[in-house]
Order: sequence, then C-alpha cells, then structure tokens
Amino acid sequence: MAAETSTPLNLLGYSRSQLTELLAQWGEPRFRATQLVKWMHQRGVTDFDAMTDVSRKLRERLSRETEVALPEIALEKASGDGTVKWVLRLADGNAIETVFIPESGRGTLCISSQVGCALDCTFCSTAQQGFNRNLTAAEIIGQVWLAMQRLPAPEGRPRAVSNVVLMGMGEPLANYDAVVAACQLMTDDNAYGLSRRRVTLSTSGLVPALDRLSEDTDVALAVSLHAPNDALRDRLVPINRKYPIARLMESCRRYVEATGAHSGVTFEYVLLAGVNDRPEHANQLAGVLRGIPGKINLIPFNPFPGAPFDRPAEADIERFERQLQKAGYVTTVRRTRGDDIDAACGQLVGQVEDRTNRGMRMIRLHAELPERPRRAS
Ligand code: SAH
Repeated sequence: MAAETSTPLNLLGYSRSQLTELLAQWGEPRFRATQLVKWMHQRGVTDFDAMTDVSRKLRERLSRETEVALPEIALEKASGDGTVKWVLRLADGNAIETVFIPESGRGTLCISSQVGCALDCTFCSTAQQGFNRNLTAAEIIGQVWLAMQRLPAPEGRPRAVSNVVLMGMGEPLANYDAVVAACQLMTDDNAYGLSRRRVTLSTSGLVPALDRLSEDTDVALAVSLHAPNDALRDRLVPINRKYPIARLMESCRRYVEATGAHSGVTFEYVLLAGVNDRPEHANQLAGVLRGIPGKINLIPFNPFPGAPFDRPAEADIERFERQLQKAGYVTTVRRTRGDDIDAACGQLVGQVEDRTNRGMRMIRLHAELPERPRRAS
C-alpha cells in the first residue's frame, strides 16, 4: 500500500488476506477481516461506527488510524443506449473514467487501472494523455463499489453489474500489485463474489507480469493483439518491440494452462481500415493463434479527434470475420456503445482534465506513424 504516513490507510483497497495480515499485527482474529470486507464491499458501509458486530475498541482504532475513502463523482452521463459513464475525481485532483454497459442478461463495468497510460498504442486515445500515475487498489475497486451502489438492480437480477473488464484507461499489468488486490476482491465471496470468468483483465502483453499472474489470480484474460505480425504490431502496439508475438503467445498458453480457464484467451483485434483488415492479415492471424484456446473479439476502430486511422467499411469487417470463422475460430464483433457520450472503447479521455500537453503529444504521435493508411485493394 502506498499510503503516506500522514494520511490514514484506506482499507477499501485491502484484499482479505492483506486485511487479515494488518489486523493480525493489531492482535485481532482472522474473522475480523472477513467482517470488515463484508461491511465495506457487500453492504457498502464506509462508516466504522455502523459496523455493529465489530468491537467498540477496534472500531475506535479503525476510525483513528484508517479510513474507507472513495473517489468522488465529478460527472455522471447516461447514454441513450443505457450506457453510463462516470468521470471520477481522485484525492490528488486527477480524473479517471469508468463505464457501465448494460446488455440483455448482463451488465459490464469497464474500469481504469492507471491515470493515462505509458504504452503509446497508436490507435488509442488514452495514449495521447501520456502516463500520470498508477491507481491505488482502493481507486480501482472504488470504481466497482460506486457502480454497485449507484446502479439499481434490474428486474430478476441481484445487481446491475455482473461482469467487470479492466479495459478502461491504463495497462493493468503495469500496476500489478494494486490490480491483483482489486481482482481478488472482485472474486472474493465475502466482497463482490464475481466468478472468475466474469472478471477480465485486458493487457497489451507485458510478458513478465503475465507470467506471474496465475500465481495471484485466475481471472479471465484478454490480450490486445491488433496485428498478426511483429512488423505491424511494433507500430500499433509499441510494447511488442520488447515482447514480440511469439513470446506473448507462449505466455498466454501458460496462463490458460495454469488457471485451467476453459474459455481460453480473448484476443482483441481493433480493425483499422487498410492497415490490419486485409485478407492476408486474417490469414496470418489464423496462423498465429493456431492451437491457443480462445476466441477473437474484433473491434471496429472508434475514431477520436486527430486519429490517424479509419473504421473499415461494414463489408470489410464481415469479410474479415468470415475468414476467421472459416479457419475454425470463434469470433465476435464488438458493437460500439455509448459513443454519444464519448464512452466507447479508446475514447476515454479525461474531459474535465487540463489537456495542455495534448497538442505536443499529437505531434509526436504523427511523426512516428507511417503514411496515412490506404486501401490495398
Ligand atoms: N492496456 C490494456 C487495457 C486497455 S483496454 C490493453 O491494451 O488491453 C484496450 C482496449 O481498448 C483494446 O484492446 C481495444 O479493444 C480498445 N481500444 C483502444 N482504442 C480503441 C479505439 N480507438 N477504437 C476501438 N477500440 C479501442
């Protein structure tokens, strides 16, 4: 926990094992951690005085030395299609975004793991913001807490949020400890009790961290592939220069084996007109993924101001998908939701932020890019 000595410990981000450890140092029995986790995450209680099955003495010490603090809602926007976007203000003034996407039978919460991102993927608007800092575990799980509290349960379901995806701002595996603690809370029966299949960590492919992940959690894995060969992926997802496709695929295979994830890996592939959506790309992709259990999620590019790419025509998207299906893959095409409130994939940019450095970063981005994509045929 990166709490400063002058500020109280924020218990919201403690996994049950971390809380057990802290309370053990205070001479408290194990079950106290379970009680506190239930109060904070199941009942949404942040006031220690209301935690009536905890001894008065412990409650007093908790109030003195710790807190349960949440990000503040700076903006809540609902889209015509039911999507809700929150801009959350953190204690240091930074802002992050969280999006809720209702679908029939389920509701998916898309959460952020960092303020900005350092990875510089050329098709992603978060990259333009640059990297500011990691979120704390409390700030990550706080997004789940807020959504669970604010969204009314739909008829016939216990709660609105049934799935969580770490696909908002940031690279989750670059903020390993906090992300792991938050994932543990999401899947802890005493906290949010989501099944591990309903929590998805999406990574651009930080291989060393991915290789450790199965020791700490077994949530579902999504990998942002976006290109079927290293030359192209080096340009679209620059971290590929460090951890090329073959190494990443090996790491994916190991994660699936270690966690026994039946559904395998979800490979995300943003379709960029004329850049990675040609028949030869589909062909190569089918080859690269051969033998790795999983499915392919095709994501038509969502444009943002100044973006150097276009969304492919519907016919090209369909052709790409059909080709993969013929090669034996399970595919889905992600339909854009919430784009009327800038909540679609790759559109999360702190709109209430001062974006004075944006112009400069745009210039650098353009300088790195190849010529504007052209249709090959
Ligand atoms: N850093 C992690 C988590 C961020 S989510 C990762 O890279 O996986 C990143 C996902 O957002 C990508 O896989 C892609 O699905 C989506 N995305 C980013 N920019 C996009 C854009 N402009 N249009 C469509 N999808 C985009």
